[in-house]
Amino acid sequence: MLENNCIFCKIANGEIPSATLYEDDMFRVILDLNPAAKGHALILPKKHAADLFELPDETAAKAIVLAKKIAGVLKTGLHADGINLVQNNGEAAGQTVFHYHMHLIPRYQGDKVNINWVPGTLTEEDKKEILALF
Ligand code: AMP
Ligand code: ZN
Repeated sequence: MLENNCIFCKIANGEIPSATLYEDDMFRVILDLNPAAKGHALILPKKHAADLFELPDETAAKAIVLAKKIAGVLKTGLHADGINLVQNNGEAAGQTVFHYHMHLIPRYQGDKVNINWVPGTLTEEDKKEILALF
């Protein structure tokens, strides 16, 4: 269940101390060490899964319900104007720690947090290819 040399396994299971906001038998929620904004938190499952694709469905379902609860407390308590849930899967997507985690990033009007992209154009060719997958 614990992956050797996985820092988030060690943090989630209390082997390495962390600023813990919440803990139950399945999850630990901690403050990010290098926050994008005040209140930036991470939801960590206690059982190792590298990313969303390895995460059991039951854990994935519980993670989003927990995110809603924690996000509400952060938003109200820190008077945030909004909050982003960010979850990176794979190096190409910006994942740097390969133990599933969900970012909760409180947002404040006019802040300089950058999770933006340049909007592109949906081509007919791409649309056809993608729709055919489902
Ligand atoms: P990601 O790029 O989605 O893999 O995010 C990894 C996040 O983990 C980053 O926001 C880091 O700041 C954060 N992080 C890495 N090591 C620690 C740590 N020991 N304690 C808390 N947060 C950490
Ligand atoms: Zn792990």
